[in-house]
Amino acid sequence: MQYVNSLLELIGNTPLVKLGRTLDLPDGDGPLVLAKVEYLNPGGSVKDRIASRMIDAAEESGALQPGGTIVEPTSGNTGVGLAMVAQQRGYQCVFVCPDKVSEDKRNVLRAYGAEVVVCPTAVDPDHPDSYYSVSDRLSKQPGAWKPDQYSNPHNPRSHYETTGPEIWAQTEGRITHFVTGMGTGGTISGVGRYLKEQAALAGTDVQVVGADPAGSVYSGGTGRPYLVEGVGEDFWPDTYDRGVADRVIEVSDGDSFAFTRRLAREEAMLVGGSAGMAAYAARQLAHELHVAGQDDAVIVVLLPDSGRGYLTKIFNDDWLSTYGFPTDSTAEHTQTVGE
Ligand code: PMP
Repeated sequence: MQYVNSLLELIGNTPLVKLGRTLDLPDGDGPLVLAKVEYLNPGGSVKDRIASRMIDAAEESGALQPGGTIVEPTSGNTGVGLAMVAQQRGYQCVFVCPDKVSEDKRNVLRAYGAEVVVCPTAVDPDHPDSYYSVSDRLSKQPGAWKPDQYSNPHNPRSHYETTGPEIWAQTEGRITHFVTGMGTGGTISGVGRYLKEQAALAGTDVQVVGADPAGSVYSGGTGRPYLVEGVGEDFWPDTYDRGVADRVIEVSDGDSFAFTRRLAREEAMLVGGSAGMAAYAARQLAHELHVAGQDDAVIVVLLPDSGRGYLTKIFNDDWLSTYGFPTDSTAEHTQTVGE
């Protein structure tokens, strides 16, 4: 019989899938662009990796005791990963999120058995009901442990130990460029460091390329708001290794969303906006390398999560129009008018 004892055993070992049509390169020309499809993790995102690694480490150090409670200010993928591992190992989970987070997202966390505490956005950070005050207070309760994905070294370490080695082995050490978005910076720091070390041992080189929403600090901005979720910051997290990226490509919200929709329609990859953003940057890089005559390059781009969580946003024409982004129907219309 073929089975696993728990879904947790299925975290990682995600496939690499070749991108085709969306690259807009003449057939067979240009570098190979391979997508690391992280939504195939059991909790639906790359964050399953860090959740299990951070919990393992907290169990080993004694910071998390049997029957303890995991407290983290998160509303997204990290919450799902933590909730999944927590229920399998008998921990409680309490997630603190601001009231602007959609009801759908909160319900996903509750469905996995977590408790969600919603805090008002319209109060000062030092107000007792604020997001920061509440999560601080809850994490000081007896038996509570706060993973803190923005400072926990096991976040980048999980990528150094799993995602990086997988990519190196899957490409048989032939990867030349790694492209990914940056939120906590855990992915780029862990994977980038591992790939650079392996390349140095093999006498080759891997370029590490960050993709970033225009306005975020990683691409020289001040944290000006952007709409793509999960990537870009207005501060420098401890989990980000400032020496790892060789280059950062800035991508606008409009390009990120249009490319996210193309990935679903043309590559059958229903992914989130940060994946669309990273893949758009990888496409730009592929064009640059093609023009420079480097068609033997091998680019790996990491796609963090699924598009299911964004059906009412990126995949909704009305939502896109509200923010002034073109939709597929307006694009078709423009084409018809021009013909
Ligand atoms: N995309 C999504 C959807 C995410 O939730 C995150 C994590 N915030 C990232 C990308 C960025 O990953 P990292 O935190 O490892 O930089």
